[in-house]
Amino acid sequence: MTELNNKVAIVTGGSRGIGAAISMELAKNGVKIVINYNSKKEVADKMVADIKEIGGEAYAVQADVSNSKDAENLVKEAVNQFGRVDILVNNAGITRDRTFKKLSEEDWRKVIDVNLNSVYNTTSVALPHLLESDAGRIINISSIIGQAGGFGQTNYAAAKAGLIGYTKSLALELAKSGVTVNAICPGFIGTEMVAAMPENVLEGIVSKVPQRRLGTPEEVASGVVFLCKDGAYITGQQLNINGGLYM
Ligand code: NAD
Repeated sequence: MTELNNKVAIVTGGSRGIGAAISMELAKNGVKIVINYNSKKEVADKMVADIKEIGGEAYAVQADVSNSKDAENLVKEAVNQFGRVDILVNNAGITRDRTFKKLSEEDWRKVIDVNLNSVYNTTSVALPHLLESDAGRIINISSIIGQAGGFGQTNYAAAKAGLIGYTKSLALELAKSGVTVNAICPGFIGTEMVAAMPENVLEGIVSKVPQRRLGTPEEVASGVVFLCKDGAYITGQQLNINGGLYM
C-alpha cells in the first residue's frame, strides 16, 4: 500500500461533481489538493474551505485546461504552493450533445479541446514532476460513452475513447518509471452533467442499469483513491464504475 500522506494531487475541474468528490476523498487520505476550476471562483474557494475544515490542505487555481498556457500555469502554481506533484487527475470535461447531422464544427472542436487536448496540456507539464515521485499516478476520467458510444455524443465519445488509447500508450511508455496511468470509466453518475439530461431520457437510462440506479461521485472517487493507494501494479487499465451497464 502506498502512503498518501503529504502527497500532492492536481484535480482538474476539481470543485464540483465527480472532481469535488475526488478532491475530498483524496484530502481525507492526507493528500494536499490543488483544485483547478475554470470559472466559478466562489465554488472552488468553498471546496478549499471544506477541505481545510476536515484538517486537510488545499489550494484553488483558475485555469482553462484546454488552453496550454493556463495548464502550464496550473502546474507551476501547484509546485510553487506545495513543492511537488505526485498525482494528476484529468477530470475536467464537458458535453455538447447533438446528433451528428446537427453537430457544428465548434461543438466538435470544443468538446475535443476540453476533454482530450487538455490532457496533453496538463500531462506534458506535470510529467517531469510525476517522474520525481516515488508513486506517480495519472488518472484520466474517461466514460462508458468512450467504450460503448452514445446517441448524440459523437464528439464526446471520440474524446473519451481517445483518452483510453492515450492511457494505454502512455502507460506503456512510463511503465518502467513506476508512474502508472489508468482510466476510470464511470457509467451514469448523479452530477450536474447528468441532471442536464431530459428526465425521460434519464429514466430510460436508469432502467437499463443492472443495479437500477445512478452512481454517486463518491463511488467514482473511491476508485481514484484505490488506484493511488493500492495501484502500484495496475497500469494501462480501464476501471469501470457503472453499476454493470457495460461489461
Ligand atoms: P460537472 O459538469 O459537474 O463537472 C465538470 C467539471 O469540469 C466542472 O468543475 C467544470 O468547471 C470543469 N471544467 C469544464 N471545462 C473546463 C475547462 N476548460 N477547464 C477547467 N475545468 C473545466 O461534470 P461531472 O459529472 O462531475 O464530470 C466530471 C468528469 O467525469 C468529466 O470528465 C465527465 O466527462 C466525466 N464523466 C461523468 C459522468 C457522469 O455521469 N456524470 C459519466 C462518465 C464520465
